[in-house]
Amino acid sequence: MSDSLSISTSIREKLQKIRDAGAFRELLTVDERTGSRIKMGGRWYVNFAGNDYLGLAAAPETARALNEGIRLYGAGTGASAVVTGHTRAHSELEELLCDITGKEAVILFNTGFAANQTLIKAGINLKANLLLDRLVHASMQDAVFSAPEFQRFRHNDMVHAEKILEKHPGSLIFTEGVFSMDGDLSDLKKLTELKKRYNSYLILDDAHGFGVLGERGCGTAEHLGISGTEIDVFMGTLSKACGLSGAFIAADRDFIDYLINTGREYIYSTAAPAFIAHALIKTIKYITGNEGRELRHHLHAMTELFRKRFSELDINASLLNSETSIQPVIIGANEELMSVSGKITDKGFLCGAIRPPTVPQGTARLRITVTAAHNDTDIINLTDTLKDIIG
Ligand SMILES: *Cc1c(COP(=O)(O)O)cnc(C)c1O
Repeated sequence: MSDSLSISTSIREKLQKIRDAGAFRELLTVDERTGSRIKMGGRWYVNFAGNDYLGLAAAPETARALNEGIRLYGAGTGASAVVTGHTRAHSELEELLCDITGKEAVILFNTGFAANQTLIKAGINLKANLLLDRLVHASMQDAVFSAPEFQRFRHNDMVHAEKILEKHPGSLIFTEGVFSMDGDLSDLKKLTELKKRYNSYLILDDAHGFGVLGERGCGTAEHLGISGTEIDVFMGTLSKACGLSGAFIAADRDFIDYLINTGREYIYSTAAPAFIAHALIKTIKYITGNEGRELRHHLHAMTELFRKRFSELDINASLLNSETSIQPVIIGANEELMSVSGKITDKGFLCGAIRPPTVPQGTARLRITVTAAHNDTDIINLTDTLKDIIG
């Protein structure tokens, strides 16, 4: 048998295994969207399956800012940021993000995935001990497996984290502000104490907190009353609440200079278009201003309404204890989840259907994301539908 034949056989076998486990993924194709609705295959659905928490991705303000950016800067950057890809728009966006995070310097990335790969690899190159919450995002987990050694603590278990730090002071500690699949918050207060006591660095991935939490939308630390100066390295995505794409890391000047000089995902990737940076400046000012505050208040009210209705209707599934827009409903087995999810879609609602390995075995779940674009009727109709289908 030729090698290419054995490769195709092996691919088929692997795919069959994924199918047998009820975990085969197929892409949906979206034709049109608004803040809360998505059109696919000629039908509109209420969208509870995205991370566009403030409903800005399809907002006219965002489109206007993008158009203005294209007029000013044209299309692509055509080069890496370290060659000729770094424009005035990128530089102004960096300054704005420094103000918001209270940090000296910022580096921009095309994706949050790339930013986290660079962060972990920097830790490996610095020969630091890496200490991660067990539930941090795949973008950190994947990179860390190439480290000669690393430690993980049980999710949000500060006693366990401290035990490891006693043995490994001077660690780089990685956590998330809002955990993406459970919607709970990290114990940042305790982590900032621990990182000081054990002379370590705290690195916060606030993909789901930035723009959403805190009076100004600065994220989980602001929400918990922790000063930005307590977080050594702040990573945020520009693809979720900001409604566009990209990510940033904010830290002290030396740390950022180190990433600019060694981060391969940064150096060997074309810089994001300047029109996106331009639109992000407008969007982030909007998010941190009064309009953003109103959106966050509405989002909070919708989340409360969802939780209240879920418990009043006594829906027969466990809703995780989350105060954020991420509201996971645990179904358990993959087949059961896919059946429930199919019925919900038939009724005109889209909810995330998350299966292992993204979440632990036996905890397949609906990941419902409430956004500021939803209204009372959307939430009432969704919870009524969940009651009809789940019981
Ligand atoms: C989405 C996400 C990322 C990746 O960000 P992208 O910009 O989508 O690549 C990183 N960390 C967490 C916690 C996320 O949820």
